[in-house]
Amino acid sequence: MQIVLVDPSRTVRRIITDLVQQWEFNVCAFADGVEALSYIQHNDSVRVLLTSAELPSMSGVDLCVQARAILENRRPLYIIVMSSNDEYTKCVQALNNGADEFIRKPPIAEELRARLRTADRVTSLQSELVRLASTDYLTGLLNRRAFFENAAKLVAQARHGQAVSVVMFDLDHFKQINDTHGHDIGDAVLKRVAAEIAPLRGSAGRLGGEEFALLMEGELSDAVEVAQELRRSIEKLKIFAGEQMVAVTCSFGVAEWEAGDTIDVLLRRADMALYEAKRTGRNKVVVADSYALSDQHEKWRGAARTLRRPR
Ligand code: GH3
Ligand code: MG
Ligand code: MG
Repeated sequence: MQIVLVDPSRTVRRIITDLVQQWEFNVCAFADGVEALSYIQHNDSVRVLLTSAELPSMSGVDLCVQARAILENRRPLYIIVMSSNDEYTKCVQALNNGADEFIRKPPIAEELRARLRTADRVTSLQSELVRLASTDYLTGLLNRRAFFENAAKLVAQARHGQAVSVVMFDLDHFKQINDTHGHDIGDAVLKRVAAEIAPLRGSAGRLGGEEFALLMEGELSDAVEVAQELRRSIEKLKIFAGEQMVAVTCSFGVAEWEAGDTIDVLLRRADMALYEAKRTGRNKVVVADSYALSDQHEKWRGAARTLRRPR
């Protein structure tokens, strides 16, 4: 478990670091809150903030508030505030501002150890809940909600000049695979296809039944290359239902973020290109263009929504 310790005194930092390391926790110590905040923000592995209430440039209570604001309840962080001044009101103030525990400084070794054990137990459970809430149970990719959350962050980067593109794809005639070989084989196909995008750079998600997306840094041409490679590797997959090999192909739509696009608009353009790939023969990559939103596209989407059975 990774701990961030904040205390202005070098001696206190050394004593607590020695203690905590002895219990096989990792500690990164800071004299002030500003550096500690930046470290917490950029290191997802930090699970505990152990801070003195009395700090030079911001109070321990302010540090609690800012740490909670930065993490937006999306990452577990157990906050323990230490104070040599065991004023009751200060303790309540810390707890009201995002702290989970309040202990006296210097802490009694056994008490600190017990509280860190609690922190380990609580944050392990919270991490597992976050993982379950953001992962698709079948493929291990991001689920639809988590994909859109991540995507919004990448699109924010695009607004600062970073090229961002999306590859959207859908299995061809997947209903037929289910009907011919059964749902278990269908599920195995989805897992194998997902395993092809999981290692790629970017944010890969399962948007629905047999529909996937990869949002990546890069221009349209980079995304087209990725899509073509994926198309070829999926076509070559050797998946067997008993003795029989199951032929699997996908159709792809690719789009690059353009100024003013929201994530919904970007995906809609990729979706239209995907529709075009389906309409013109499947097992191909089509680049989003200025396709007018056609009636056929809307009908196809409507039909797909009716057919899709969430499982
Ligand atoms: P197209 O080439 O036009 O995309 O045709 P399709 O058959 O792939 O598309 P359609 O929308 O007609 O059928 C999708 C099927 O995917 C229907 C649904 O039962 C199946 N499906 C959705 N989710 C799952 C899943 O988690 N597991 C399995 N095995 N099947 C699923
Ligand atoms: Mg399909
Ligand atoms: Mg579909």
